[in-house]
Amino acid sequence: MKPTVSIAKCTSYNKEEIKKALTFCLDSLGGMGKFVKKNYKVALKINLLSAHAPSKGITTHPAFGNAVADLVKKAGAEPFFIDSPGGGIPYNEAGLKRVYDKCGYLNTGHRLNYDCRIKSISNKNGLLIKRMNVIEPLLKADVIINLPKVKTHLFTYLTCATKNMFGAIPGREKPGYHSKLKDVEHFSKMLIDINLALQPKLHIADGIIAMEGNGPSWGGLRKLRVIIASENPFVLDFAVTQLVNFDPLRVPYLKIAIKKGLCPRKSEDIEIKSDIPFKDLKQNFKKPMTLEGTGFSRLSPLIRPFVGLFNRFFVISPKINKKRCVGCGVCARSCPEKAITIKNKKANIDYKKCIRCYCCHELCPHDAVFLKKSWLNRLLMK
Ligand code: SF4
Ligand code: SF4
Repeated sequence: MKPTVSIAKCTSYNKEEIKKALTFCLDSLGGMGKFVKKNYKVALKINLLSAHAPSKGITTHPAFGNAVADLVKKAGAEPFFIDSPGGGIPYNEAGLKRVYDKCGYLNTGHRLNYDCRIKSISNKNGLLIKRMNVIEPLLKADVIINLPKVKTHLFTYLTCATKNMFGAIPGREKPGYHSKLKDVEHFSKMLIDINLALQPKLHIADGIIAMEGNGPSWGGLRKLRVIIASENPFVLDFAVTQLVNFDPLRVPYLKIAIKKGLCPRKSEDIEIKSDIPFKDLKQNFKKPMTLEGTGFSRLSPLIRPFVGLFNRFFVISPKINKKRCVGCGVCARSCPEKAITIKNKKANIDYKKCIRCYCCHELCPHDAVFLKKSWLNRLLMK
């Protein structure tokens, strides 16, 4: 049987419109009752990357999260919102309260997680990570429902269902994964492993307002106008690549998932159930600079095989906009390689240490980190 992805058009964060679209998506997958039983504790794993207002399009919109929580409650279960925000924010009660408040979750009427205990779990079938620390309340839930936001990503190129589960890793441990798994292939295997270990039963993505370009924090907002659901995170993300016109094989975690048989290779092998024709929902999203910059189209075929040997000459580096930088130090605390120091209230990057993970760009609250291609990259790549 083909894996299924359900997609419904949803043009706004209006409560009734979201509810209608969610009902279509869930009914197409067998209904909420298939995933949630009476009295179940249901962890709703939202994306709370950092403390930003919902209008910024960085985090899962509270109107969307609320609508899912209402449906879970209607099914007789007990929903609660949970995430461990990005590396710069301490994973404690005060840190969580600040993020819930800013992201619009403080007064939803649904329970918010403040239990900051951590538990080590084994993951014998993992591709790479056989043991990991995760935030414990996810393990205590009867069911995890993953509620990601559709965004582009400078490091993994796309962030949606698969990448959202990185939030299961306690805040301060996240930079450690970037440090240990420097290249995107290893990092992608780890993302797959978290999904295999925690097995969320359902994934429903907020694609009403999505992000294109240099996401996941400072890209451009784009009205994708959809809600997308699936039982399989890789298949959902594959369908998103089709919606935004990205090649799924250029998204490293999807390429690995396909190779490992966790996701079909061809779109014809996925059943799409949509309330309006899928082709009418498609858009052309702007790619992140890191993805568009590796097109090789201007290179002679004779030179292309040697590009890997000279990677350091083709890099895209983070730079600090000194006018915008306020010296808050979030980037320095998030940098896995301790490559950033604050001097005279301004951030400075040591490029000998920098591994180009772009966490500083992602987590700077003031949009003070920008990206610059090397001269050779500008000259030869498109
Ligand atoms: S670059 Fe951004 S995060 Fe870093 S110190 Fe400056 S304002 Fe803060
Ligand atoms: S300076 Fe920025 S891109 Fe470089 S390692 Fe640190 S966080 Fe990553």
